[in-house]
Amino acid sequence: MSGTPYGKSMAKAAVEAARAAGATKKKVERVYNFNPGPATLPLPVLEELQKNLLALPGVGMSVLEISHRSKTFDGIISAAEADLRKLLNLPDTYAVMFLQGGASLQFTMVPMNLLPKDGSADYLVSGHWSERAVKEAKKLGKVNIAGSTESENFRRLPRRDEWKLDPKAAYVHFTSNNTIYGTEWWKEPEVGSVPLVCDASSNILSKWIDVKKYALIYAGAQKNMGAAGVTTVIIRDDLLERVPSGLPSMLDYKLHAQKKSAYNTSPVFAVYVLGLVLRWLLKIGGLKEIERRNEEKARLIYEGIDASGGFYRGTAEKESRSRMNITFRLPSEELEAKFIQEAAEQKLSGLKGHRSVGGLRASVFNAFPVEGVQALVGFMKDFQQKNG
Ligand SMILES: *Cc1c(COP(=O)(O)O)cnc(C)c1O
Repeated sequence: MSGTPYGKSMAKAAVEAARAAGATKKKVERVYNFNPGPATLPLPVLEELQKNLLALPGVGMSVLEISHRSKTFDGIISAAEADLRKLLNLPDTYAVMFLQGGASLQFTMVPMNLLPKDGSADYLVSGHWSERAVKEAKKLGKVNIAGSTESENFRRLPRRDEWKLDPKAAYVHFTSNNTIYGTEWWKEPEVGSVPLVCDASSNILSKWIDVKKYALIYAGAQKNMGAAGVTTVIIRDDLLERVPSGLPSMLDYKLHAQKKSAYNTSPVFAVYVLGLVLRWLLKIGGLKEIERRNEEKARLIYEGIDASGGFYRGTAEKESRSRMNITFRLPSEELEAKFIQEAAEQKLSGLKGHRSVGGLRASVFNAFPVEGVQALVGFMKDFQQKNG
């Protein structure tokens, strides 16, 4: 059967495959993506995803097709955990879980697991997501609002002299970066021996932290660590002892920790992406290097705002400014709309602020490149010259 049409079509297929490969090498047009989440990912991570999507090297199957109980996935999730531990210098006394349900499910799981029926939990309220956390906790137990800046539309964090902490609280909950209002806790609140619980969804791994000050940290991956679909939970072992028995299995920290996040099907793809992002972070120099980059990016934009003579106005109080989400306004809503449209034409995308703050928001998470920030600052100068 030599020289059969089969042989011919194989040759043709090979040519087509080569063409397709050539086509993927063509430069893909990407914009600077200022979206607040899901957010921009490191380009090397996307390239590796693309390269290995059809078959993981040596496995012959896509990561989308492998069993969550396979050796391959075991390797992927173990490496992700090990890299996370390395990045954060996480002591062995903390367990790491990769769960589903987003950060929003943690608003429920935290009180369900850690707030006893006869107890009370302190919440420092610094924005929309802290309010959501309070709303869910109230359904399950007693909540004490230990500080809130709602009356000032969350333009700053609650100051220490305003806190009303309860020394007997089951835990203190705070939101380390307020994605919508553009404020960030520079230092975690000092809460003594009461366990500190942190929603770090929008600034996890953006800077060095002393993880030993925290009892529990949770974060949806889609802002600073990867794709939507997986939530990282880091919990100190002694808190697992407080988990009451009889909780619904999927909402039980103790069970998830015992089962090493494999009680049910893990979000295999999201964990894989998370692992690639963590490896990228280690490769570029870990938290020290990413903090340097984040500091530089935020400084460039805030300097642009502050040097504009009032044309651009930051919405957050200076002492509370976030490095991750930079919120600002222009002299009028018409100009804001024009800015957003013209910026998009310059490939600066996703700059519209959240409706509760209005104006503009530049989200510059870990993976956002400094060149994109320079492009934005240049555009801001131009725009002011033409419209100021
Ligand atoms: C985005 C965000 C959330 C909500 O995350 P989901 O994964 O959509 O549930 C919670 N907290 C903070 C600080 C966020 O930025």
